[in-house]
Amino acid sequence: CGIIGYLGSHEAAPFLVEALKRLEYRGYDSAGIATIQDGRLDRRRAVGKLVNLSDALVYDPLAGKSGIGHTRWATHGAPTEGNAHPHRAGPVAVVHNGIIENFRELRADLASKGIAHQTETDTETVALLANHHLSEGMSPVDAAAATIARLEGAFALVFLFESDDNLLIAARKGPPLAVGHGDGENYVGSDAIALAPLTDRITYLEEGDMAIVTRQSIEIRDANGSLANRPVKTIRIDN
Ligand code: GLU
Repeated sequence: CGIIGYLGSHEAAPFLVEALKRLEYRGYDSAGIATIQDGRLDRRRAVGKLVNLSDALVYDPLAGKSGIGHTRWATHGAPTEGNAHPHRAGPVAVVHNGIIENFRELRADLASKGIAHQTETDTETVALLANHHLSEGMSPVDAAAATIARLEGAFALVFLFESDDNLLIAARKGPPLAVGHGDGENYVGSDAIALAPLTDRITYLEEGDMAIVTRQSIEIRDANGSLANRPVKTIRIDN
């Protein structure tokens, strides 16, 4: 229900959890984060309040300066730790708001290729699809674009790839999603409130947009795949 992505110069986990706290007002049943440290993608998830995720992170910390986070409001699959986001398939982690309407068809198609799901969620299908495209030899950007092109429904998505700790790919069709501009850092978030501790320079994605985010750049493509020029707004939020 809430999304955050961080590509920075500091440890990601505290920023991710802080941003998720600021998204609590939307409601949620579980939460999780994923980071990349020394070329290794890893995640922690917990059912219930964010404090449970914070506890999990104390017992089993997650280092890394690149990461994504999520608060989930379950629509497909029970609110369990295994169904909590980020979902992962091999080297791909995904957080998702909304519903993938055609996930049963996509699931059947993946099953016919011998690719099995571990969960009942519509989100795992997105991760498996992206991983499948990677295994066909696509780059992360192409794999994400090819995945997004096959999805029907309303969604905000952020992808994190183990092969590149300087890349987040965000996509919006339905639920709001924004990118935040930092100094040598960039972010993705459900709204300006989540991003407020990081930056007040915000670009809202428009319907059908895909953002290719690194620490140095934010490239936005519209629904036709053309380069889009979206305004940077200064959104001040009093804490
Ligand atoms: N449909 C997804 C799920 O049930 C995402 C729900 C959400 O927006 O939090 O896991």
